[in-house]
Amino acid sequence: MDQIRDEILVGGEWRRGAGALIETRDPATGALIAAVHGADAEDVELAVAAGRRAAADPAWRDLLPHERSRFLTRISDLITERAEDLARLQTADTGKSINETRALVASAAGTFRYFAAALETAEEALTPPRGPYLTMSVHEPIGVVGAITPWNSPIASDAQKLAPALAAGNAVVLKPAEWTPLVSLALGRLITDAGLPAGLLSVLPGPGRTIGDAIVRHPGVGKVTFTGGTATGRTIGGAAAEKIMPVSLELGGKSPTIVFPDADLDQTVAGVLFGIFSSSGQSCIAGSRVFIHADVYDEVLDRLVRHTEKLRIGPGTDPATQVAPMVTHAHRDKVAAMVDRAREEGARVLCGGGVPDGAEYAAGAYYLPTILDGLANDSATCQEEIFGPVLVALPFADEEDLVAQANDTVYGLACGIWTGDYRTAWRVGRRIEAGTVWINTYKQFSISTPFSGLKGSGLGTEKGREGIRSYTRQKSLYWGL
Ligand code: NAD
Repeated sequence: MDQIRDEILVGGEWRRGAGALIETRDPATGALIAAVHGADAEDVELAVAAGRRAAADPAWRDLLPHERSRFLTRISDLITERAEDLARLQTADTGKSINETRALVASAAGTFRYFAAALETAEEALTPPRGPYLTMSVHEPIGVVGAITPWNSPIASDAQKLAPALAAGNAVVLKPAEWTPLVSLALGRLITDAGLPAGLLSVLPGPGRTIGDAIVRHPGVGKVTFTGGTATGRTIGGAAAEKIMPVSLELGGKSPTIVFPDADLDQTVAGVLFGIFSSSGQSCIAGSRVFIHADVYDEVLDRLVRHTEKLRIGPGTDPATQVAPMVTHAHRDKVAAMVDRAREEGARVLCGGGVPDGAEYAAGAYYLPTILDGLANDSATCQEEIFGPVLVALPFADEEDLVAQANDTVYGLACGIWTGDYRTAWRVGRRIEAGTVWINTYKQFSISTPFSGLKGSGLGTEKGREGIRSYTRQKSLYWGL
């Protein structure tokens, strides 16, 4: 892969990082793909200082929205031109199936294009006079935004932060996850090639506890946008509160999927399995608890298990693969330990529950798609995010009890409802504590539809027009007449 170089982007300059060496391995084979020197504390200083200069430079600050939008359009075009390379790189880095990484790259191109268009049509609020004065409220860029992203969909999460933050006129210091820096660096190179003024973007791979923390606490960083685990979100939210700095947190989930007896069961079974096993369950919105009405519990469960046993497990590079390896062996082992704990809690393992047999799987970070039942909703297995291909089935008979159980977690990210009755969908969908509710579908996204988590799943909104606003601060000006 000739696009991999041991260089990071610090304040407009590509150079070898001064921090620790980060090794990334192909999750399908364990082979070393690249070793990149990450950033150190001095790199954070340089990146923030360069970001502040670049954001305040009239060459960027005074651009009209349609002029700034041209950069985003150019970035979108370059992502589309380099789509196949980016998808392959992300498959090598994360293990994800090539079909999924192609879709993620296309969504990243769409994100830049959407925010370019949104910028072209941005309106400024001019309040009519109500006395002997005229008021005007403007949205100004924040300055330097720190963006911290996880490993599970790097190019899509990077794009969701970079496009609106740049659209709003900011500079960005991006810190990708330790395990998957390659696609974020490739995106940084592509954005440099698109001609974004130097210093507006830095890409600083490195450990969260040092480099991530230094970005969050830096006095020159005016907002942090974070996607990752809830525990990390709490730490970052606490640091932001100390600085009185706006923060957006997109965190974890334990999302319920609900199957009513009047659902189209073919569609439901396919949708429930896609909701949990795509991305090998390594998805914040994974539908990891399925509540099935008692009238159809045995039938639906039987179909889920039979279909799961037929899912094709293999390397992400094979377009026929349905369940690809997990991101690292260490993460796979963590998931395996959580399934062992489920057994101790009394779970019945209906399928999966271990690593696949066969020489072709021996070196990879594979884990079989697993379905459990026999657990109560208050068990640790039903309450904690597993972030792997593990589905727990729970029966329900009564709607009140269902809603209470579905909502009884610290999370509130997503929910799926499968029913033939739109009234049931509306009634239950309104009562579920989740930022997104899918009805007779799952894991579908549109960049113009806002995305947010409730409760322990987050704070703030991404996507949609609010996506740009959240990277600005509002100021009101009064003129005496
Ligand atoms: P993580 O919280 O361990 O790490 C996320 C990022 O934060 C990484 O870049 C990491 O280096 C950095 N980080 C860690 N500690 C830090 C600190 N103290 N200060 C600053 N930065 C720090 O999460 P992960 O394991 O990479 O990702 C998986 C998690 O992300 C899951 O919980 C998943 O649900 C969540 N996620 C949420 C969404 C969403 O939109 N809600 C999307 C994808 C993933």
